[in-house]
Amino acid sequence: MKKLVMKALAKINWALDVVGKRDDGYHNVEMVMQSIDLYDTLVIEEKAGDDIEIICDSSSIPLDSNNIAYKAARLIKETYGIDKGIKIVIYKNIPVAAGLAGGSADAAAVFAGLNRMWNLGLTTRELMSTAARLGSDIPFCILGGTALARGIGDDLMPLPPADGIWMVLVTPDFHVYTPQIYKCLDISEITVRPSIQSMVMNLAKRDLQGIARCMQNVLEQVTLSIYPEIDHIKEDIMNQGALGCCMSGSGPTAYGIFPDKKSAQRGYGVLKERYSQCFVVETKPAGIEIMEEVL
Ligand code: ATP
Repeated sequence: MKKLVMKALAKINWALDVVGKRDDGYHNVEMVMQSIDLYDTLVIEEKAGDDIEIICDSSSIPLDSNNIAYKAARLIKETYGIDKGIKIVIYKNIPVAAGLAGGSADAAAVFAGLNRMWNLGLTTRELMSTAARLGSDIPFCILGGTALARGIGDDLMPLPPADGIWMVLVTPDFHVYTPQIYKCLDISEITVRPSIQSMVMNLAKRDLQGIARCMQNVLEQVTLSIYPEIDHIKEDIMNQGALGCCMSGSGPTAYGIFPDKKSAQRGYGVLKERYSQCFVVETKPAGIEIMEEVL
């Protein structure tokens, strides 16, 4: 029986700007995105019949057709006329509704995994364009590494890999729903915007101080007005020796970058005693990793 075991990596935003609202209600963004070593593990197995089965060790995500991994498998089956059954087991490690694109990462792994399992022969770009129909963060999770995103987030340009940068993440114990944050965003009220160009240059030079200075997310203004405790978390991370700290996506996760692995681990040692969802991770050059395959 065909089987794949994959890592689906989370992302953070080095910088996030919202540059306009479109007639269809979506926003145009400019973001610098990054894969990080915090991942869900997916086991994808072919099975008898024609249905899609989702099993997950977490009770905080749906197990039916509302699961984004289910939707990804259905889209692939419908688009490419595949009448085979599939079982997807998700070992959830990425906090849900946390600004880390956990659902998008799972969907990306399903797209890439089924392309491989069923020999569909789709290029990364073809997969990304099919995936964009399901969610604007999924193409980045397929591309992975470091990338500049424009449009609604699915117009992607790969950047030189900025892997091996150490950070500590803290996710508070509440969920933030991206549509709600965008609904509350008034573009005319944005006071501080990131310099996307400077961030790209600093990442290319691997100038950690420069990267720290450019870490900026315009959605922070909105999310922090609803959840001011995120500001305290940022302060707490900075107090452990972080070079800079920023919220990822629409939040509530905050991440701080550190000069090296040792200082990140030291900061993590303190913060994990205060926050139940705390992670020390490094940046990675890919969004999906295959750990095992039987094809
Ligand atoms: P983004 O940063 O892309 O906006 P997020 O990290 O804030 O995403 P997700 O963890 O992707 O948020 O979850 C968003 C919603 O999607 C939640 O309401 C969750 O229940 C639902 N969901 C459906 N399938 C999944 C999945 N496989 N993993 C996580 N969430 C899922």
